Amino acid sequence: MAGIKQHTGELTVRQVASGLFSLDNNDPDLARAQFQSFSKQMPLLYLILVCNASAVMAAFFKPTMVVETLVIPVIICVIALFRAAWWWRQYDAQMFSDAEIAKQIRRTCMLAVIMTLAFEFWCMGIYSSGDAYARGNLTFFLGLTQVSTVFCLMTLRAAAMRVAATSTVCFIIFFSVADQGRMAAEAVVLGCVGVGMMIVTHRYNLDFSNLIRSQRDLRNRQAETEKLSDENRKIALTDALSGLPNRRQLLVNLDRIDARPVDALDGLAVLFIDLDGFKDINDTHGHQAGDSLICSLSVRIREICPPHSMLARVGGDEFVVLIDTPGAAAVAAAMAERISDEIALPVLVDKHVLQVGASIGIATNIGGACTSHELLRRADTAMYHAKTSRKGKIAVYDSALDRGRIRRMEIEAEIGTGLANNEFDVFYQPVVDAQSGQIVATEALIRWPRRPAGVLVPQQFIEIAEATGQIHPLGMFVLERSCRDVLALDNISLSVNVSPAQFRDPGFLRQVAHVLEQTRFPPQRLQLEITEGYLLSQPEAAIRTIKSFKAMGLSIALDDFGTGFTSIHYLRTYGFSHVKIDKSLLAGLSPGSKASFLVAGAINLARGLDMEVTAEGVETHEQATLLRAAGCDKLQGFLFGRPMPFVNLRAMCSAIAHEPRPQPGPPLGRAAG
Ligand code: C2E
Ligand code: MG
Ligand code: MG
Repeated sequence: MAGIKQHTGELTVRQVASGLFSLDNNDPDLARAQFQSFSKQMPLLYLILVCNASAVMAAFFKPTMVVETLVIPVIICVIALFRAAWWWRQYDAQMFSDAEIAKQIRRTCMLAVIMTLAFEFWCMGIYSSGDAYARGNLTFFLGLTQVSTVFCLMTLRAAAMRVAATSTVCFIIFFSVADQGRMAAEAVVLGCVGVGMMIVTHRYNLDFSNLIRSQRDLRNRQAETEKLSDENRKIALTDALSGLPNRRQLLVNLDRIDARPVDALDGLAVLFIDLDGFKDINDTHGHQAGDSLICSLSVRIREICPPHSMLARVGGDEFVVLIDTPGAAAVAAAMAERISDEIALPVLVDKHVLQVGASIGIATNIGGACTSHELLRRADTAMYHAKTSRKGKIAVYDSALDRGRIRRMEIEAEIGTGLANNEFDVFYQPVVDAQSGQIVATEALIRWPRRPAGVLVPQQFIEIAEATGQIHPLGMFVLERSCRDVLALDNISLSVNVSPAQFRDPGFLRQVAHVLEQTRFPPQRLQLEITEGYLLSQPEAAIRTIKSFKAMGLSIALDDFGTGFTSIHYLRTYGFSHVKIDKSLLAGLSPGSKASFLVAGAINLARGLDMEVTAEGVETHEQATLLRAAGCDKLQGFLFGRPMPFVNLRAMCSAIAHEPRPQPGPPLGRAAG
């Protein structure tokens, strides 16, 4: 073991010793730094050599020794000047590749030794031809050349060490024998100086290479930090799910646009896109399915976006397209149509066909009248209008929309306080048997009689409540109140309107069951009325929910039949037990009229599918007679009673119960409320 250790130690010392003279080829950064440093000194080094050679030449020149005292030093000087000029032009390290730098370093190491030896051998060759004064000068210039060469090459360790070592050895040998040993003291001194310079060179190089390495580490760390901060910046400005720019990035871009001169803001358009029914997808199929849907739709929308536009995802189901090009207004309108069509196409996620819609708001900056931030707000307002007004899925901003939005927001806030302050009520409209005229059912209709700012009809606040989600507590209020009220009226069925948003809510079934349990209202007497819009957007889910309600004993009616696009196929598959013919179909209903054929057709269709038919909005005896003749089962309308408070309905029911039973014939014209 000891032998091995000793051997290893010896090797290491030898390696270190040879390492002092060898080139460090493994570190291109160090080589470049060395090159950068010594290349600046090289012209100086060669000029010192020229000066020294000239001084020696002047001291030793003899016409009898032209070659030794003139030709050789002139050759040395010419070569030195030539090299000095070359280095003068080439000192910028950035111009060289790593390989070229390595080549120059190798060449410098070799030339430094050759030039030093050439100078020293020349000096030593003519030494004996000079007098004592000239010899003293020569010794001085020899020492000076060695010291200046080593110091100029200090950062190139291999060259400095080689020069120092070779010239020290030469000096020691030469001065030991020169002048019969009388110059031995110079030999010792020059030897010591040489060794001293080698030690200084070694130490200096250690510090130099450490400095370069730590600079490199610092640079690397800085680059890493920059890379990390770049990545962080990217993450902060990108939506993680879709990979699209996020709201922050959009705002940054808007800031940039607003920094432009005002006339350069002309030709901007913003599209604000909000998905319809996305929450239902999340609720029904889970968030993963929702995420996949967002990704697919992001790709689809991005493909439609023209050059000079930016698509950002600014919220869960909200996207913004910023178009920044002349003629943006026209581009925006065409794009909105395409985006709406693309979004409406089904998406296959985990074997489920998912489908959503989109409400889109457009704001354009014709004339460059407003900032891009304001444009975003306007597009948002237009989108809100598209979403809540049901007038169309794409809306273009108009200043009137701002007023509309403020009013809607006020109503939104009022619904919240209205619920808390018991401002809402439920009214009941009787539904009579078409043949007997007896009240057999009643429809619960919400009212807002105690609203401090004045009464609003349901259509004015129901759509806002649907858009904001407030329809859930409102709907449950109506269901619970009406179940408690109507329970007291024996054998009278209850119809409650259900909004699509409620019907889509996975918790709705459980909530209805809970109300029935709490109020002890028999499920067989409860009917839920839903409209066609929902059925078309979510057919599978609708069929499932209808089945579940039917299994609980409830019946489901299709409300406002005749206003939508429900096909016979849909009617059959959904499994409704009732349809309610919309009052708009009754307009102009007279014997032989088109309306009467239409209504008769609708009634026949429903009855053919084993559904009970109720006609709503019956206002005249003539309508009632025609509907009865056409086979309608139940009638509802002002002719039989307007929506009324529960006490009135109860009074009406008990009054009828005490009257003699009417014969089948023209119905009772019992308008109330
Ligand atoms: P709907 O479910 O089709 O209700 C029938 C509407 O027609 C009621 O309007 C009723 O007052 C009106 N009506 C009944 N007979 C006649 C008639 O002979 N002539 C005329 N011109 N109108 C008649 P109302 O109460 O204003 O409700 C409007 C709509 O608001 C309802 O239409 C329903 O879609 C919705 N709604 C009402 N209450 C609720 C509720 O509690 N929840 C939900 N989700 N929607 C409700
Ligand atoms: Mg209804
Ligand atoms: Mg209706």
